[in-house]
Amino acid sequence: MTAATVRIIAVGDELLEGRTSDTNSTRMQRALGVYAVQVRDIAVVADRAEDIAAALDRTGAGDIVLVCGGLGATRDDLTREAIAAWAGVPLVYREDVAAQLAERRRLRGLPPLAAGDKQAAVPAGCEPIANPVGSAPGLIGVLRDRRVAVMPGVPAELEALLPGIVEGLRRLGALAEPRPTRLWRTAQMTEAAVARLCEPVRARHPGLRWSWWIGEWGVDVRIGAEPRDRAALDAAAADVDAALGDTVYARERSELPLVVQDLMLARRSTLAVAESCTGGLLAAAITGQAGSSGYYLGGVVSYADAAKIELLGVDPGELGRHGAVCGPVAEQMARGARARLGADWALATTGIAGPGGGSQEKPVGTTWIALAGPDGARSGGFRFAGDRDRNRRLAVAAALDVLRRELTGDRVFDAERLSWRISPR
Ligand code: AMP
Ligand code: MG
Repeated sequence: MTAATVRIIAVGDELLEGRTSDTNSTRMQRALGVYAVQVRDIAVVADRAEDIAAALDRTGAGDIVLVCGGLGATRDDLTREAIAAWAGVPLVYREDVAAQLAERRRLRGLPPLAAGDKQAAVPAGCEPIANPVGSAPGLIGVLRDRRVAVMPGVPAELEALLPGIVEGLRRLGALAEPRPTRLWRTAQMTEAAVARLCEPVRARHPGLRWSWWIGEWGVDVRIGAEPRDRAALDAAAADVDAALGDTVYARERSELPLVVQDLMLARRSTLAVAESCTGGLLAAAITGQAGSSGYYLGGVVSYADAAKIELLGVDPGELGRHGAVCGPVAEQMARGARARLGADWALATTGIAGPGGGSQEKPVGTTWIALAGPDGARSGGFRFAGDRDRNRRLAVAAALDVLRRELTGDRVFDAERLSWRISPR
């Protein structure tokens, strides 16, 4: 089966006025990523029936058409009406959907709608897909020979509906068997370094699809194959495992803080943090995971020198000698947090996030990360090359990865690692 063509239409005035970025298209692409489909284009259009119709006119018979936005209950939401008009079909008022919507209103303590709920109207030929987190149901059906799926614009609702939409597209015969894929998530590596490590594997196993991109905690790598090439994929995957080694923190869609959490919980160990340049982002990343209270005790945001001295017991002499951004201060911060919070482990960050504050000796991006544990403290210096936001996020990722590597028995701060730079973006 040749790859079906997918066309995405994101509807919403706010998307054209720069108030909201179109992140839904990415979500839809990701949901279809494992299927043999080719996304041909993404149209972003206003909440105007003519514009929605024009975008639909640019699709072709046989296409999978994914539409998001404009399914709300207010007057400016008219995607449902526009699609029905374009397809030349009536809107059918569905009592079953109306009953679900009425029940939802009742549970939320809202009065019933006097004029009936326009969200219960479904273009003839489409089926509603129940929305687990919001009111507007998704819609799916064949209209003018296109396999059309329509979803609400609220990202959380769209995300919750996507499995049902994918299921619906499979029922319509629009999606063939998923392509087998393998994923590696790496930390503390540049894209170029990952590509270099993977290049020999790529040369040895031609015919696979490779992609890498910068994820939240580092560089992610994926290879995919046609279903008949599963054996080749397995062979390549074994080679990638060997090539990337312990730079890989996850082999599936897991987040670095969750990987660290699982390691810490398995060891029944506790963690504290001392943050300077990351200003609480490290603690936020840790506590962003449900279950973090099982190992995370707390932290200190010690931004000023005085706070490092008073709250963590950093030696003023050390601060005077090298400034706050150096290995010895990072180590003292980590030791201080570990002792004062009574934790098994403590991480510390201190760096120059930018844009100001850099010098010849310590350019913007210079960051020291320390880990204190039962055997003392160690630190490593990094030279991140991003802007302020990116440098701070890279410091969070590096700190978490330093702890991960420690817990998995890897040498954390050997000389080679210290010179690694993570590319900006
Ligand atoms: P709607 O379903 O059109 O009423 O959209 C509800 C809200 O979802 C909008 O106000 C936006 O904040 C958000 N939204 C709509 N479309 C998108 C999109 N393509 N990407 C991200 N957010 C969106
Ligand atoms: Mg809208």
